Amino acid sequence: MPEPNSGCLLWLGGVTPRGYGKIGKEPAHRASLEHATGKRGPRGKTFHTLHKCDNPSCVEPTHLRFGTMSDNIKDAARKGRLSRGERHYCAKLTAEQVREICANAMGRNEAARHYGVSDRMITKIRKGHSWSWLKDKPTKAHEPAVVKEAMEGYRAAIEMAGRAVRAGMSVREVVREFGFSHSAICRAARLQ
Ligand SMILES: [Zn+2]
Repeated sequence: MPEPNSGCLLWLGGVTPRGYGKIGKEPAHRASLEHATGKRGPRGKTFHTLHKCDNPSCVEPTHLRFGTMSDNIKDAARKGRLSRGERHYCAKLTAEQVREICANAMGRNEAARHYGVSDRMITKIRKGHSWSWLKDKPTKAHEPAVVKEAMEGYRAAIEMAGRAVRAGMSVREVVREFGFSHSAICRAARLQ
């Protein structure tokens, strides 16, 4: 199903719990990119087919590229998505929508209805209590929230490093990628 705003092509078949389309046991987005390019994508747990659009269910070949686990992590770190916000299992909003909520003049109740979240959530987002880490969201400088955001960014990055190790990336590679110490990464890898 084409999505007019983003140009995404949304997969309407079965999806994994994380929202990736699947054909049988194959990831649908990888199959789509393979079909479009005629190339066989790399397999294995340290290889991924990446979304430039950050939309897990998208199978538009021009939004996809083959990459490695470490590309995926670099991407995630750069985009600030990590394991928070929209990547979170039950998140209802995308980063784009959060920016809209902060920028638009919709009333609280109207916005809640429009985005399908509670009006309390709208208030939290607008006050910066929720999604406060979102980098390019309009926010006043020097607010405690900015400091908090930096701390949360660190915490999320170290969690991501831990997850990368558990997913099969070598600690050395993760050290190189993230710049954290070997021991900090080992510690993070043991936390769930
Ligand atoms: Zn897309």
